[in-house]
Amino acid sequence: MTDLVAAAEQLHGASGRKTLRPHQVRAIEMLRSAIGKEGVKRVMLMLATGAGKTVIAAAIIRMAREKGNRVLFVVDAISLVDQTVKAFYDEGLHGIGVIQGNHPMEDWSKPVQVASVQTLERRGMPKADLVIIDEAHSQREYMIKIMADPEWAKVPFIGLSATPWAKGLGNVYQKLIVPVTMQELIDQGYLCPFRVFAADHPDLSGVKIERGDYHEGQLGKVMNDSGLIADIIATWKRLGQNRPTLCFCVDRAHAKEVQRRFEMAGVPAGYIDKDTPREERNAIRRQLDAGEIRVVCNVNCLTKGVDWAIGCIILARPTRSEMLYVQMVGRGLRVNEGIPDCVILDHADNTLRMGFVTDLQHDKLCTAVKGERSKVERKEALPKECPSCKYLKAPKVRECPSCGFIPNIRSDIEEEDGELIEVTRGKPKPTMADKQRWYAELNWISINRGYKSGWASNQYREKFGVWPNSLDKRAVAQPSPEVLSWVRSRAIRYAKSQKPRAA
Ligand SMILES: [Zn+2]
Repeated sequence: MTDLVAAAEQLHGASGRKTLRPHQVRAIEMLRSAIGKEGVKRVMLMLATGAGKTVIAAAIIRMAREKGNRVLFVVDAISLVDQTVKAFYDEGLHGIGVIQGNHPMEDWSKPVQVASVQTLERRGMPKADLVIIDEAHSQREYMIKIMADPEWAKVPFIGLSATPWAKGLGNVYQKLIVPVTMQELIDQGYLCPFRVFAADHPDLSGVKIERGDYHEGQLGKVMNDSGLIADIIATWKRLGQNRPTLCFCVDRAHAKEVQRRFEMAGVPAGYIDKDTPREERNAIRRQLDAGEIRVVCNVNCLTKGVDWAIGCIILARPTRSEMLYVQMVGRGLRVNEGIPDCVILDHADNTLRMGFVTDLQHDKLCTAVKGERSKVERKEALPKECPSCKYLKAPKVRECPSCGFIPNIRSDIEEEDGELIEVTRGKPKPTMADKQRWYAELNWISINRGYKSGWASNQYREKFGVWPNSLDKRAVAQPSPEVLSWVRSRAIRYAKSQKPRAA
């Protein structure tokens, strides 16, 4: 522990920037215990977005260097080499060489080498005493081959992944280490809290499932339905609060159509796919930051390595892949100044199908082989949709934390002319009496806690979306547990939004 602290101090103390956070120290301790004490040579380290992957990797490399060990850091694409090297430099890590054709930093004598798996496959592995593989869930064939090679048997390999749930990962790695969960990172203010609303439901019953996920061509046809796209625009206008938004679409035609419909509706929107040149991509980011565009429609290309300031995610891409789902939602969970939480508009039923991203916890790697069903199973119950506002409530929560609606046990099914009709679109609005009661109770809290005038009205507006204009402004009533807990949850959310930005 002491040399760990020393390493942390060396890493950050001298420059006075930051020290390792408790879960980062825990990650390193758990690795040391697995590799050093248990002698495990193939370890998977799960680090959710926001856990500070670069900081942890830099600390691991620093400690290996102190023992005189050579380290190879493997990235998943050539395009990720430069940003990885820059990130390490920003962490105060030097002595880095790059293995890549004609790269200005190519220098095989350096003790730390960064290379893409594609380049290694062509040029072979350099000598290394520790190998760290980024985005390790993607399971590149070449790396799997190397890891099984007796020549590399004694060298520890550490896989890094935010989503280590790929089929067969447990046949390559011996141990999974989870130093911190997504929920813990949210609770500690390192990730943004989120709210999910279930939007119009696509009928996916006719879509074929291929290799564990929906057939893309068939999905494109379903999701291009004009009614569904109209609902994307209408839902965003209602719940998106004009926030900077990423919209995940199925394919190019779909993404371009959604973009076109946003523009037609007077919402400036951009479009990005994996072939969009970097310059154009950067320009779109600048426009989004400047508020010149509000929505960026994309096809499966913002799931990795992009940290834009986003306050709303539109899921118009149904998936059965937990990894893709978490990567999409993860783009909205970075902590950004001025964005208190992330609103997720799920037009793909992903949340209803797989649960909240924070519930996707697995304590083991999947050891299924090709052709076999995934052995990783979820334990948590699924969230439920509030019939009033479509907010997705945690399992077993009866009263809607978003609108306060309490479903009547039998209200989801109504009998009409002897026929059973499912009511999913009904909107039992709060009555004027309900609203007046809320306002009076908020007034009580405001007076008793000495809040500024206007506090109660602001809270009321947060709650009901309108100002309490027609209500009795002087009414005061002892607050109910419902109102107290709502006010408390707003205060917690606000306090979390005030914490310093996560790295
Ligand atoms: Zn509700």
